[in-house]
Amino acid sequence: MQSDVTAEFIRRALDGADLNALRVALYQATRDPALVEMAVELRPARGGAFFIPALSESDGELVKAKALEFLLDPAHRGPGSGIPSDAELRAMMEMLAGEPMEDRQFAMGREELALEDFPRDVTWTGGTAPAAVQGFRVVVVGAGVSGIAMAIKLSRLGIDFTVIERQDDLTGTWHRNTYPDVRVDTNAFIYQFKFEKRYPWKEHFPSQPEVKKYLRHIAEKHGVVDRVRLGVEVTAAAWDEDSGTWRVSTRDRDGNVEVIEANAVVSASGLFSTAKIPAIDGIEDFRGETVHTADWRHDLDYAGKRVGLIGNGSTGTQLLPSLARDAAHVTAFQRTPSWIVEVPALRALVTEHEKWLFDAMPHYWNWVGYVQFHGTSGFQRVQQIDHEWRAQGGLINENNDKLRASLIEYVRTKVGHDPHLFDNSIPDYAPLARRLVVDNGWFDSLNRDNVDLNVDGISHLVAEGVVTETGETIPIDVLVFATGFEVSSYFYPVVYEGRGGATFAELWQKDGARAYLGLTMPQFPNFYCLYGPNAVPRAGSFMQWVDVWTRYISELLIAQIEGGFTSVECRQEVFDDYNARMDEATSALLWEEQGQGGYFVNEQGRSGVQMPWLAHEYHEQVRSATLADYELK
Ligand code: NAP
Repeated sequence: MQSDVTAEFIRRALDGADLNALRVALYQATRDPALVEMAVELRPARGGAFFIPALSESDGELVKAKALEFLLDPAHRGPGSGIPSDAELRAMMEMLAGEPMEDRQFAMGREELALEDFPRDVTWTGGTAPAAVQGFRVVVVGAGVSGIAMAIKLSRLGIDFTVIERQDDLTGTWHRNTYPDVRVDTNAFIYQFKFEKRYPWKEHFPSQPEVKKYLRHIAEKHGVVDRVRLGVEVTAAAWDEDSGTWRVSTRDRDGNVEVIEANAVVSASGLFSTAKIPAIDGIEDFRGETVHTADWRHDLDYAGKRVGLIGNGSTGTQLLPSLARDAAHVTAFQRTPSWIVEVPALRALVTEHEKWLFDAMPHYWNWVGYVQFHGTSGFQRVQQIDHEWRAQGGLINENNDKLRASLIEYVRTKVGHDPHLFDNSIPDYAPLARRLVVDNGWFDSLNRDNVDLNVDGISHLVAEGVVTETGETIPIDVLVFATGFEVSSYFYPVVYEGRGGATFAELWQKDGARAYLGLTMPQFPNFYCLYGPNAVPRAGSFMQWVDVWTRYISELLIAQIEGGFTSVECRQEVFDDYNARMDEATSALLWEEQGQGGYFVNEQGRSGVQMPWLAHEYHEQVRSATLADYELK
């Protein structure tokens, strides 16, 4: 941290600060009662769909003046230490939000504040690992975000583990997706693990190399890199009842096969790991180059060529501007429009002033992260179907309809002058029935002379290009598939055989993949999955939930090892009851009614990705493992 800063430097840092977060951090440091008195107003965002707690301008100035006085004294500067009582923290969170919170919301938010060095840590009940940990081994499948997180938890517990990764490097999706301008469309101050404090992000929405570097950094720091076997694929795994172990079959790139015996298996193979190449007729006749975004070829030279882009989800929309910049011409083939949101800070750099403030203002980093987390909860009220609202002529609910109106207005500002573009840019499903797509310059690219939006539908491919449903042949040199992933094929291509030869195909034959809490399944003892069926909560961040899930799994492993059990298996009745409750909760939300065709809904028409409960309701169920839900033998 720079120690020789001027008052002017601090002033500039404070001008760019999140003033509500700053206020609470300053209160935590000083307990100045004037900071409590300040009123928070809930300011509408996105046309009134969401509300963001904000200070009045005069209170904001007062907070900055007080913070300046505080920070002028170098002795006050630093990351902050000490943890207030829960009652005090709750008062601070309510002060920030401008409204009271439920106990369950506090329990979830308290973790996200991350005041401990290692929040959501798991320890042995006796303080140290029991002797039985010797010889207990876990295989983690996949070294992406969740595989790395699981490895770190296991390493801290001293449980032996091996991570099997089929790619030639760690970081999963962030190693694999290297298409031009790929970046995370979630703010870094929430898309990060809370056990890594004040990571020096360069961008608020970092590009792929920066996210990859971050993930490698935490893997190295926690000593798990050497535990990953790269270039090795898990092909199958079978539960052996006699030994109470999994036999995990692997194959390396030279074709060498091996069977690893493991007491437990954690699948961290990801939701977006199997690229989907659509079965378009004539694909084998096409003479040009083809590439899927997840397997980008850096020798692919599309400069000056005629490019076809199929797909306009988060990936295709993110990619179009780069293609349009360098190609002679791009035809964007769109089957279904996406709801696209503007994120003004998408390209914002983290300034030296911001970095300084994170280091200098005690706990400011924690409260900024908390503000980001808290902000995601607003999405939840947009997902509920409001039948009374409908009876009055509304579409989904008041907030959702307001969001829709604001998104339509955004489209109008971008392409309102062009009826073809405007008419074809308004989805006929509700916002948030699919994942919202962040505008990385999609609309501006559509406005370019060298870009066409084609909505005629793809009939088939021929040697020279794409033939549309209208019979037109569009010549294409390079065809890019931004067509997403086989999301419903959990664990593909690994074939797991559980107790008595049980398979997931059988367990899920009725209406697709299901799990208990997104994590465990009956007939599959000692098997856990991360980012599993219906595991994606309605608020919070991916990293947050990965940390919660890995804690839950760790608790079950601790119970197994400490209790000397051979197997831990989700009870069938617990699984059935949970899924029945989940289906009922899902029916009140918009995914199945509005999201058909998107990957939130599986082939059977059932919501298969999202978690229906409010985030704090799910957190209450998953924050600690209930042993009675499992048969321990
Ligand atoms: P996606 O959301 O599943 O979108 C696939 C696109 O391909 C859709 O537009 C789809 O059209 C189209 N498509 C598929 N098959 C087609 C066919 N046969 N003919 C015409 N169009 C076809 O996949 P994605 O964009 O790769 O995104 C997947 C997820 O990855 C995201 O939701 C997000 O979670 C993650 N992601 C994140 C970021 C980020 O953080 N920046 C970036 C990229 C991806 P239909 O809608 O008509 O099926």
